[in-house]
Amino acid sequence: MRLGCIADDLTGATDLALMLSREGLRTVQTIGVPDEALDLSGADAVVVALKSRTIPAQEAAAQSLAAAEALRKAGAKNFFFKYCSTFDSTDGGNIGPVTEALLAFTGGDFTLACPAFPANGRTVYQGHLFVNGVPLHESSMKDHPLTPMRDSNLVRVLQRQTRLPVGLVPFEDVDAGADAVQKAFEREKAAGHRIVIIDAITDQHLRTIGVAAAGLPLITGGSGVAMGLPGAYRKDRPTDSSLKSTHLTAPEGKAAILAGSCSSATRRQVEIAIKGGVPAFRIDPMALASGALTPRTVLDWIAAQDTGGPVLVYSTASPDEVQDVQTRLGRMNAGELVEHFLAEIARALPEKGFTRLIVAGGETSGAVVGALGVSALTIGPEIDPGVPWTRTLAGTDLALALKSGNFGAPDFFLKAWSLLQ
Ligand code: ADP
Repeated sequence: MRLGCIADDLTGATDLALMLSREGLRTVQTIGVPDEALDLSGADAVVVALKSRTIPAQEAAAQSLAAAEALRKAGAKNFFFKYCSTFDSTDGGNIGPVTEALLAFTGGDFTLACPAFPANGRTVYQGHLFVNGVPLHESSMKDHPLTPMRDSNLVRVLQRQTRLPVGLVPFEDVDAGADAVQKAFEREKAAGHRIVIIDAITDQHLRTIGVAAAGLPLITGGSGVAMGLPGAYRKDRPTDSSLKSTHLTAPEGKAAILAGSCSSATRRQVEIAIKGGVPAFRIDPMALASGALTPRTVLDWIAAQDTGGPVLVYSTASPDEVQDVQTRLGRMNAGELVEHFLAEIARALPEKGFTRLIVAGGETSGAVVGALGVSALTIGPEIDPGVPWTRTLAGTDLALALKSGNFGAPDFFLKAWSLLQ
């Protein structure tokens, strides 16, 4: 194995695994630290999905180190810490503390932080992160339920989370090519910086960074910056296009969508699905808190739907509604209540004949996959940038699409099924 990856949430892990497999690396994704019994010998890259984005920073660092240790045992030579392309974090972490811990683990003295993913509208210019052309602090991320992002300057954001001095490799260096980027690394190191935010506004920039950074023991960022790594690792072997499958063979069975994301893309997708005739059940967090709504009610409703198509269960709500619920229940408590409830629904679905599931939301997907006991996934075709169909490698046989809240086209919940056979 060449590359060992640690992702701070599940949909982010899938996004990275998809990027690496598309670029020609044989990639396996594990849910949590892989068991020693899992055979990883055929993989060029392994992506370990943690659920460490919003847990206490010390715990996130400890889990990331345990994953890194397991990956090194399985043969990993280089390491990649994957977080969200919108840099989801708080002043307490966890991007800074986990980077610090992993950098010490690899024995390196310098790394980069690059959340840019132009295909998904995430670009970084002069250290400022833009989401579809809008500065991060003006984008819908300012209202995220768990990690509201109120500053677009990533040098500042990251510096608040770490003792390691943070610098910047700006657009001018990246646009000038890999040699210029390596010179910029030396310049930043000489200035005492241990982590650099690095600009990227096109795929070409990401490929340049991949070439310049392939020798670093640790790289951190979104899945975009992984784009250039497979080519840099195997200069002599071009991407094997036969790896790009267009359909996933899925187990026969019924289909469901569970949406626990309140991100703007998911809000639109829920709206379009309902307009498109998908039967939908809305979860009210206050009804969960009072005990008025139980999994049984939802499962009975699901059983009563017989359109032959997918059913949708969603807690997706507007920023105002989320704020109101959080004021009454507390931010973390509300989040966990909803995640736990959707996970309970998911746990009951396979025995009712559901084998094809879309889950919207990173935290939500983590909770759902945990409840289903899924430990490893193979990566199938891409539905929209960053979101593939996957199939479970062990345990209950399921086709799963785990969607980061803000990913996917408006008709995602309607069109995704056509890639299954
Ligand atoms: P995303 O990928 O969009 O960030 P996540 O699932 O990671 O989505 O995070 C959304 C969080 O919001 C979860 O903790 C979820 O339980 C919580 N949540 C979902 N619906 C509501 C709601 N109606 N009110 C408050 N919190 C909610």
